[in-house]
Parts: sequence; structure tokens; C-alpha cells
Amino acid sequence: AVSSVKPSQKPASAQSQSITPRHEDYSQWYLDVITAADLSESAPVKGCLVIKPHGYAIWELLRDKLDSAIKASGAKNAYFPLLIPQSFLSKEAEHVEGFAKECAVVTHHRLRADPDAPPGTLQPDPDAQLEENLVVRPTSETIIWYMFGRWIQSYRDLPLMLNQWANVVRWEMRTRPFLRTAEFLWQEGHTAHADAEEAHDKAREMIQVYRDIAENWLALPVVVGRKSPSERFAGAEETYTIEAMMQNGWALQAGTSHFLGQNFAKAFDVQYKAPDGTKQYVWATSWGMTTRMIGALIMTHSDDVGLVLPPNVAPIQIVLVLIFKNEKEQELVTSFAKGAADRLREVGIRIEVDDRPNMRPGAKYYEWERKGVPLRMEIGPRDAGKGAVFAAKRLGGKKWSIPVDDAFEDNAQEVLTEIHTQMLENARQRLMSRTSRPSSYEELKQSLGQGGESQGFFVVPWKCDDENEKKVKDETKATLRCYPMDEQDDVKGRTCIYSGEPATHMAIFARAY
Ligand code: AMP
Repeated sequence: AVSSVKPSQKPASAQSQSITPRHEDYSQWYLDVITAADLSESAPVKGCLVIKPHGYAIWELLRDKLDSAIKASGAKNAYFPLLIPQSFLSKEAEHVEGFAKECAVVTHHRLRADPDAPPGTLQPDPDAQLEENLVVRPTSETIIWYMFGRWIQSYRDLPLMLNQWANVVRWEMRTRPFLRTAEFLWQEGHTAHADAEEAHDKAREMIQVYRDIAENWLALPVVVGRKSPSERFAGAEETYTIEAMMQNGWALQAGTSHFLGQNFAKAFDVQYKAPDGTKQYVWATSWGMTTRMIGALIMTHSDDVGLVLPPNVAPIQIVLVLIFKNEKEQELVTSFAKGAADRLREVGIRIEVDDRPNMRPGAKYYEWERKGVPLRMEIGPRDAGKGAVFAAKRLGGKKWSIPVDDAFEDNAQEVLTEIHTQMLENARQRLMSRTSRPSSYEELKQSLGQGGESQGFFVVPWKCDDENEKKVKDETKATLRCYPMDEQDDVKGRTCIYSGEPATHMAIFARAY
């Protein structure tokens, strides 16, 4: 048996956590940033995560934005159960093959005291064994398509477009906070359509929704592409993906949208009566984005000081730090700061006022920097005296004075927008400068082998072939991330970098999380 429970150990506190520099150990840096910003802690069960308030607030801000985008696309929210009959999973051949190896299975519905063991020892009650095992959902296609079978009769019932916010469990053997956990939070959209083209369009539409959220909400530039057959979702005919590049040049799959063809409709016998009276199987899509995005944010934007958050998902967008030496100064800065904070709050900016006495301003700055607050406003007696705040961006650069005049709220809003643009631009520069086009397999292998600065996205002509793809992975550890949508015109007349045969696609290879 494999032990899933970890020995208990006291974690470092956020204040005491020192941050390993990125160039020394990128993986350790990532974990240190999480601890220093107090985002999450590992749970007693291996691979599971306790998401703490500062981390969960980021998720809520992403979730709310994504939820309105999904509703705007025409889907409605619903909820389906956590437990799925095991037999449901077997109905779609590829789906079961893909998910069986990471399913948590429920076999009993009661525990009882073990008569042969010390008091208090529990075991599943043999009299309470379930007639049929249940699986904890790894994804909900099967239960949803079972229900779609009841709800879809006529072409008038279509399209049917649902979304659910839920947790899922995939028993991953190698986990990393947020990026790959055994249980994660996500939304999963499921749609049913009368014709293939409409379903396929929906799958493409939703990957563009994800791209838009990634870029315009999270400041994460992404490459939109299609997965190769071996990287497709289990049961999909086409998987669209957005791939982001982390600071170490590795790729992260940041969201996926699948065209499922008629696979689930056939497995669950979901047919509709067409206007001409014939019975037809429906066409399907599904699409998901998860708490992995919090990891993507950290790995894309943060630095050796700690977390850096894009303003749209920063639980605190501006912190006002009060500086005073005596009671008189305290009174002055407090009432001035209160007025400034109220005005910012009024226009919907998320504010924190740090008026803690007995703490040096430097220590306060440091704490808010580690938590990723995009903009700091320092208010001392001199600033209050002249009716201004002294501003410092988390991204660095010169500090400057902002008058608390009629344009104060507009100025603050503008600076936050500027910070978003600057973060997106920085990340875009990295994506561009670390995307290369090796002219031979040897060159690709060499770059991938060197690590460090030479890691990135490698765009090459490729002849679609599962076996060769696996060989490249074995030889270089890089995987085929996607066939980027914007590059496919370049494939004409090219030969595959690996096989030398005529290329079918332009492909991106990269090391990936
Ligand atoms: P899928 O249903 O397999 O297409 O997964 C949807 C999205 O979930 C993927 O695009 C990943 O970004 C994300 N994802 C997959 N596995 C995990 C995991 N173990 N932890 C967090 N996110 C995940």
C-alpha cells in the first residue's frame, strides 16, 4: 500500500520565510514565494493543498471574471454530484483509459471499530460495502452526459450549454502547489449541439475566452494552439490549448477546450429528433480552467523579493502605509489617509490602510512587497501637509508624488492600468525573446540540453507521429506543447525536423510543468 498521509511538520511562517533566488533554485524559489505571501500550505494528504485567505482571494477574483465571461458566452451554471458510478467511466473507451489510473474510488459507506485492534481503530465495515463502487469525479463528462440523455429529445433542446464550478480529484503522483494538485478547483463547461460545425466553433470560441482572460486579466501572454493526438484530452477529437511561458522558459498548459465529436453522445445514447424527423447523435464540447492559474501568475510575474500580482487579481491593489513618529503626526496622517482611502474605495479600488504603530516603515514595505501588492502609497506628515501621497510600484522604478486632488481616483486607476500593461509587456517580451526556430533536430536537442537561459519554446516543422513524439520526449524531456494557430501557414514545403518527411504541422516543443 502507498502511504498518502505525510508526516506532520511545522511550516515556516510567512514572516520568517527567506526566499531562495530564482537563479539558484527555481523550484525552491516558487515554494518560498508561496510561503512568504501566505497563499497556501500543504495538507496532511499528499498532493492536496490548503488554500489560505490571501491565495483564495486571488482565486475568487479570477473566478468572478471568468464566471461572467462564461455566462456572456451563453452557458448557465449548474451543479452535478461529486460521486459518479464507476460503470459510467467505462462507457467511453478512451476516457476510461485516460482517467482510470488516477481515480479515487469509494467502496464503503460506513466505518466501524476494528475488534482485533486497539480501541479507536476504525476500518470499513464489511457489511457496508457498496454494491457498485463510486469514483470521486476526475472530470464530469460521464455524469453530465448521462443527464443530457434525459434532457435532450428534440433539436429544440439544443444547444444545451452548462458550466459548473467544482472540485475534482485526479490522483497525480507528482504534485506541486497550484500547478498540479491531487484535488483542484475549476470550472468545467459542457455543451451539446445539433451539428458538428457549431460544436467545433464553440470549442474554438472558449479557448479565445481563456486567452482573453489570461492576457487581459492575468497579464499572461499565451500561445493558442491545437494538441497533437497523443496530448489530447481522453475522449476528445480535438483539444485546443493556451500555453504560457514561465520565467525559466518552461511551458504551462493554462486552459483547454475540447471538441468531443459524438463520442459521449454515442456512449450515453444521446440523440435528438431533427426537424426532418430523423434521429441524430448530438455533438459536444468541454472546457476547463483551474487553480493552476495561481501558479502561473506566481511563476510568470514574481521576483526574488516575493509575489508580484497583476492589479486585476490583487486582493489588495493599493496599500497606504502611514509614517509617523508621535501622536500629533499620527493624528495628522491618519485623518488624511482615511480621506484618501475612502475616495479610492468609493471607485472600487481594493485598499488596505497600514496604520500599525511600533513597526518600521521599511518592515511594512517589505511585508506588502512579499504579498504582491501592486502599488504602495506612503503617507508621512510632510505628504499629508502638502496634500499628496508618495507612490511606489511593486515592479520598481522611481517613486513619485501623487496629489490628492480632483483627479486622484483617476490617477490611481490609471497607474493600476499602467502596471497591468507593463506586466503583460514584460511577459510578452520574454515569450518573444525565448521563442526560437532551430533549423535541425541537433540544434533543438542542444538548446534543450543546456537548460538555464536556453530553455524556451522551439517552433519546428513536424510530421504528426505519436511514436516520434515519444522518442523526442525520451531524448530531450521536451513535449509537443501544441500546433500554434498563428504559425501553420509556414509549414508549406517544409520537412519534419525529426523524420525528414514532409511536415504536416508547425509544432512547439518545450519542457513543461
Ligand atoms: P483537462 O480536463 O484535462 O483538459 O484539464 C483542464 C485544465 O486543468 C488543463 O488545461 C490544466 O490547465 C488544468 N489541470 C490539469 N490537471 C491539473 C492538476 N492536477 N492540478 C491543477 N490543474 C490541472
